[in-house]
Amino acid sequence: MKDLTIILLSVCILLISLILIMISGSLFAFLPIDWSILLVVLSSITFIIALIAAILMDYSAGDYECKKCGQRFKPTLGAYVLGAHTLTTRYLKCPHCKEKSFCKRKLSE
Ligand SMILES: [Zn+2]
Repeated sequence: MKDLTIILLSVCILLISLILIMISGSLFAFLPIDWSILLVVLSSITFIIALIAAILMDYSAGDYECKKCGQRFKPTLGAYVLGAHTLTTRYLKCPHCKEKSFCKRKLSE
C-alpha cells in the first residue's frame, strides 16, 4: 500500500508539472517575451526534476520476476530506464538464467 502511494505521488508530481508547462505556454501572448521565456525555462526544469523523482521512486518501489525461470531480481538503473515496458512488465535480462523477456513487476512489501 505504501508503494502504491509513492507511485501515485509521482504521477501527481508529473501531472502538476505538465499543467505548469501548459499554463506558462498559454500566457505567452500577454507577457513580455523575457518573462515568457523565464516561465517556460522554469516549468521545464520543474518537469525534468519531477520526471527524475518519479523514475527514482518507481525504480525503488519493487523488483521483477523472470518469465523464464521465475526468479525475482532488481535490475540496474540503466537497464530499468532503457527497458521497453508496459504498465506491469518490463523487457529485462534476467541475471540468473541470462534470458531476455518481459519480466513481471512485483511490488516489495
Ligand atoms: Zn530468469
